[in-house]
Amino acid sequence: MEIRNIVRRFEGRVVVDDVSLTVQAGKVTCLLGPSGCGKSTTLRMIAGVEMQDSGEIYVDGKLICDTVFRVPPERREIGLMFQDFALFPHLSVANNVAFGLKGSKDEKRARVEELLRKVDLMRFIDGFPHQLSGGEQQRVALARALAPRPRIMLMDEPFSGLDNRLRDGIRDETLSILKEEDAAVLLVTHEPEEAMRMADEIALMRRGKIVQQGAPYNVYTRPADKAAVAFFSDVN
Ligand code: ADP
Ligand code: MG
Repeated sequence: MEIRNIVRRFEGRVVVDDVSLTVQAGKVTCLLGPSGCGKSTTLRMIAGVEMQDSGEIYVDGKLICDTVFRVPPERREIGLMFQDFALFPHLSVANNVAFGLKGSKDEKRARVEELLRKVDLMRFIDGFPHQLSGGEQQRVALARALAPRPRIMLMDEPFSGLDNRLRDGIRDETLSILKEEDAAVLLVTHEPEEAMRMADEIALMRRGKIVQQGAPYNVYTRPADKAAVAFFSDVN
């Protein structure tokens, strides 16, 4: 997935400022930056729920969105995960994961079981969201997002609502499941530690711009400027 020269303004203010970024299948790219720098807005444009003022989005080299042409969100083969992972409270765990799946009943059931096994929640297959802990609900949300085999997985601070003690374990587990599914993952976070732990590639964002991009070790040990140094040391 590639975005090229994306610009988005709100009320005349440039919030996403000429952002270009490539996310490869099987890799996790972290869009890392302080609150308000434009991360979620960028993600929403990729998801297709918000329109850029200029710039293009490509998947496999094929244009999916510019300012005149636009593939609708539901046809973008995108999986979404947010901090508020919002399971459907009235649906069982199985039906939450099956939601939006196509195919025969047996096919759907097989995919649901495959994913619930991966997230180690088969015992809750007929349970309901309120019976699960926060971490367990988060894993169901992961299974649900991955069920239709999205090409692109967009995750917006998906771990920030979780208890500190759970977070590292869930990050590691999520990472290993993502790797098995081979989607191109774009993970938004304001926490350097999370990016360092999960990313193959970090894109550091500030005031709507990507100020640096590279492997986590390189970005961390060779920050582009003083503001990047401050950002890494501040939050840690
Ligand atoms: P981040 O996810 O990095 O915290 P956002 O992309 O949510 O940042 O927001 C970037 C900036 O754009 C913020 O200043 C925010 O207030 C502003 N913004 C986001 N959405 C809208 C909107 N729909 N209307 C006006 N301003 C918005
Ligand atoms: Mg945000």
